[in-house]
Amino acid sequence: MKGRNAVITGGARGIGEAIARALARLGVNIIIWDVLADAASATSASLNQEYGVKGVGLAVDVTSEASVTAASEQVIAEFGSLDILVNNAGITRDGLLIRMKEEDWDAVLKINLKGVWIGTKIVGRLMLKQRRGTIVNIASVVGVMGNAGQANYSASKAGVIGLTKTSAKEFASRGVRVNAVAPGYIRTAMTDKLTDEQRQRMQALIPLGELGEPADVADAVAFLASDASRYITGQVINVCGGMVM
Ligand code: NAP
Repeated sequence: MKGRNAVITGGARGIGEAIARALARLGVNIIIWDVLADAASATSASLNQEYGVKGVGLAVDVTSEASVTAASEQVIAEFGSLDILVNNAGITRDGLLIRMKEEDWDAVLKINLKGVWIGTKIVGRLMLKQRRGTIVNIASVVGVMGNAGQANYSASKAGVIGLTKTSAKEFASRGVRVNAVAPGYIRTAMTDKLTDEQRQRMQALIPLGELGEPADVADAVAFLASDASRYITGQVINVCGGMVM
């Protein structure tokens, strides 16, 4: 892994930051694409200090093909290759389906699903030319099992799983692998918004009995990004304490 170059979208904080940390520990250079440009730069600078890897944070909106194209060109110019892409940026705008506003449906689908398609398209094209690369998409268990109050989010994550399998089939002959990690309930800013009651209800559904940590997701991503998973493509690993079996 040493000397490889990884882009992590939405890597300024939360699960994305943990993924950046796990890859940096393996010697991977880290490029963070996030709308939070200052936080992205701060995270990459701290990884540079801690692990001696090259780290860069760029202001990128994953929903803009122009923004992603410009950032990819910058990475190739500065780093020479782009070996790992983690499509992690994602949002929630929860609400019951019959009351959901169109703008909340559109915002979630645009970032969580269209954003993954744009990243896969632009970076995938580079990887196909290189004849190597690995892409890991961050889905969610609710894309598999559904969740009341998350019609937009669960639909977007189910879409990410379909997109993962299709891109894996299209890219396999050129040595580019595409997999997904589907986290369950992980302790981040996204789940901090939950009420105590919601959290207790959720914990009761988890056979291992507790929320996961960002590092649990990051370790699965690092495995899929590495050669240890060289014969694995088009798969979804559920990191959810057994919620989905
Ligand atoms: P988070 O703490 O909110 O981090 C997401 C990051 O993505 C934020 O820095 C966010 O910036 C950034 N982002 C949002 N829109 C973006 C855009 N258009 N372009 C670039 N970056 C953008 O979320 P998290 O909990 O770490 O979640 C990371 C991923 O895991 C998401 O795909 C999420 O759906 C998935 N996931 C999380 C859980 C969980 O329990 N936490 C469970 C299953 C799946 P802003 O803060 O400015 O929006």
